[in-house]
Amino acid sequence: MKIVTLGTGGAIPTPVRNLPATAVQRGAEIFLFDCGEGTQLQFLKAGLSPGKLKAVFISHLHGDHIVGLPGLLMTLNHLSRKHSLSVFGPPGISDYIQQTCKCLQFTPGYELIVEESSGGRIHSGSDYRVDAVPVDHTVFTLAYVFEENERPGRFLLEQARQLGVPEGPLYGELQAGKDITLSDGRAVRATEVLGKLRRGRKVVYAVDTCPCQQVVDISTGADLLIHDGMFSDQLREEARLKGHSTVVQAAEIAQKAKVEELLLTHISPRYRDQDALLQKEAMAIFPHSTVAKDLMKFEIPVHK
Ligand SMILES: [Zn+2]
Ligand SMILES: [Zn+2]
Repeated sequence: MKIVTLGTGGAIPTPVRNLPATAVQRGAEIFLFDCGEGTQLQFLKAGLSPGKLKAVFISHLHGDHIVGLPGLLMTLNHLSRKHSLSVFGPPGISDYIQQTCKCLQFTPGYELIVEESSGGRIHSGSDYRVDAVPVDHTVFTLAYVFEENERPGRFLLEQARQLGVPEGPLYGELQAGKDITLSDGRAVRATEVLGKLRRGRKVVYAVDTCPCQQVVDISTGADLLIHDGMFSDQLREEARLKGHSTVVQAAEIAQKAKVEELLLTHISPRYRDQDALLQKEAMAIFPHSTVAKDLMKFEIPVHK
């Protein structure tokens, strides 16, 4: 699983920070969180194939998070996309897409599935799920939790041998979590030859938001928390008024939730050459903090 920061800027772009968008690449599929203006160009710069896009998750209806969507949808059409694309978001996202497509006289040649949510399980695949949780911004906003299902535990070879399981395809079945019956009629349960379940990877996307308990709750044990970090802590009041967080507040959330890593994003353009200052403030609270730059890549290894 790889996280790619496509846009890490505040409400207006700068030459080095595009508008909000973060890609989660998992195997052959890409999941996109927010789609600020110019996101499709960032895809190209990051070497990501738009064809692999599986679903888009929109946090809220502020323009800096959604204006890139129409262009991206049209490009997928030009690329002759045939398979469906899902777009999830808060109430109103469906109307936004419909109205924009109407004005642009654009009808996708692929199935475009748009689903609105006010929170809860929003999407699940064969081995992962995505939950939406309302957070604290100036308009209704969803944070997203992308989490893989638990994987079966390690295969205990010695145990399998002792139980008389012959080497071969039965090992594979047990490994996949299936109970088997041996040729002599004895049953062997998968749990007898597998170690503890291995937890899946978990990434939380919470942009835009003031610091709030909901994000602590959903981020517990996350491998990566991607959090609004628009301001230095000197601008706490401005952050509150605008519905954002300071890097210190985001670091406090990460610390409370005991996440592995914190990625601070949606950085105000005023901190053009001051990433180090923001980084220092955050790290004083939570050492595993990174102030995101555009086109960074983070590998999240599987849990052994
Ligand atoms: Zn924003
Ligand atoms: Zn906003």
